[in-house]
Amino acid sequence: MSYKIGFTANDYEKEILDIKITQQNTCTPRKSLVDVYFSENGCSFIYFNDNFDLKKGDIVFVDGKFEGIRGLVTKVSYNFKIKLSDYKKVIAVADTKISGKFFFANSHMISFNKSTIPYSKVITWYKAKGNDEEEIIYGEDDNTEEYKLDDFPGIGFTSEIVSRGHEYYTDNNVVYISVDGTKGKAIVFGSKAYEVDFTYKNGMISNLVCDCYCNYHCKHEAAVMFQLSETINMIEKNYEDKLSESEYFAAISKYSLFSVTTSADKPGSIIFE
Ligand SMILES: [Zn+2]
Repeated sequence: MSYKIGFTANDYEKEILDIKITQQNTCTPRKSLVDVYFSENGCSFIYFNDNFDLKKGDIVFVDGKFEGIRGLVTKVSYNFKIKLSDYKKVIAVADTKISGKFFFANSHMISFNKSTIPYSKVITWYKAKGNDEEEIIYGEDDNTEEYKLDDFPGIGFTSEIVSRGHEYYTDNNVVYISVDGTKGKAIVFGSKAYEVDFTYKNGMISNLVCDCYCNYHCKHEAAVMFQLSETINMIEKNYEDKLSESEYFAAISKYSLFSVTTSADKPGSIIFE
C-alpha cells in the first residue's frame, strides 16, 4: 500500500488532502484461517475464509456470534487442517481502497467527486453487504412536504429525540453523508450502522427515512439534519464553486476515514508537503 497526503494550498480553510491508497488485488480467493480482532468487544477469534484473499489489516465481517460487528484481521495462516464445522466464516471484507481529493470541513472531509467515497463503498466499512442481502422494501406516504433543516417540530420530532440526535451529531456518529443531485444518503453509527435516506433541495429536506425499527422520527434522522446543516454551511462558505460544478458532495468523518484506511499493521506513509 502506498499512501500520500499532500497539502497543496496555503489557506487553511481551503487546504486539500490528496489521498492515494493502492492495495493488492483481492479478486482471487485464497483459503486461509484468520485471527479476527473485534475492538468493540476487545477479543479475538479464529475464522475460516475461502471467499477472499485476506491480508493482515483487512476489515472483515463474519457469521456466528459476532455477526454485524466489524473485525480486523490480525493474522493470516495458510497451513492448516481443520474440521470445517468447528469454524465460523468470514462473509465480507470492506473495500477500503480510496483515491481522490478531500477538502476540510471541521470533523469531516468532503469530496466532490462521485468515485472517491461512494456510498456503495463506505457502507462496506460498516455492514456485511453480501449477495444474499435481504430485500429492502420502501414505503412512501403522500407527504412530500419540504422542511427547513432546523424545523424539527414541523417534521414531527419530539424534543427528547432532537436532543439525543444532537448528541449523536456532536459525537460524530453521522459518519457519512452525501447528496447526489437531490438524493441524500447517510450512515449513522450507533450500536450498529443505520442508513438514512432523504431528499434535499434548495435548503429544504423531505422524505426522511431511517432503516432502524422506530416507527417515528428517530435520533438517527435528527443527527443527520444537524450534520447536513453543518456540512451545507461549510460548503456554502468555502466550496460553493465545487458544489455547483459537481452537484454532488460526500462528507466522511475524519475518524472513519483514517481508522479504515490506515492501520499500524499496514505498510505505507503519510507525507505532509
Ligand atoms: Zn433511526
